[in-house]
Amino acid sequence: MLTCAACGTRLTEALRLLPELPPRPEYDGRKGPDGFRRPPSTVPRGAFAVDPEPSGAPYVPHPDPEWCDSANPGNSCMGDPDGQGFLTSAGPRGTLVTHPEDSRDHLADNPARQEIGCCGPPGREGPNSLCPGCGSVVATLYADCTGAYETDFLPDAVRVEAVA
Ligand SMILES: [Zn+2]
Repeated sequence: MLTCAACGTRLTEALRLLPELPPRPEYDGRKGPDGFRRPPSTVPRGAFAVDPEPSGAPYVPHPDPEWCDSANPGNSCMGDPDGQGFLTSAGPRGTLVTHPEDSRDHLADNPARQEIGCCGPPGREGPNSLCPGCGSVVATLYADCTGAYETDFLPDAVRVEAVA
């Protein structure tokens, strides 16, 4: 499971490490079983995986205006709201990708990051989930219909601990 590096509070259900990050599912436009329009979670319940690529905010313009396509779905790629072309993540590498339901009861919302998404928090303004024990910023929940569905923990903010 994952715990807060600062205070040790448990932040997830029991998880097993996947050997690699699964490909992010493409959104098919249908409502999921919970009634929300969003793609399936990147990782299944009870699992986590390490994302070797930069993930999350901040986002910077990508030099190739044709770069963003179906080979780069999810949270690493988005249209630039201020201009032509696309933005790419300049966030941390090595984030721990989890199913949002595995941490829903263990995290607190970050009041500084109240984004309004189409169907859920897009997660583009930065980490939006806090440790409920000490208030440390620990993770980003991505739950809008336009991106991947996952909760990414910051590698420096959490520890991986064996479940006692
Ligand atoms: Zn904490």
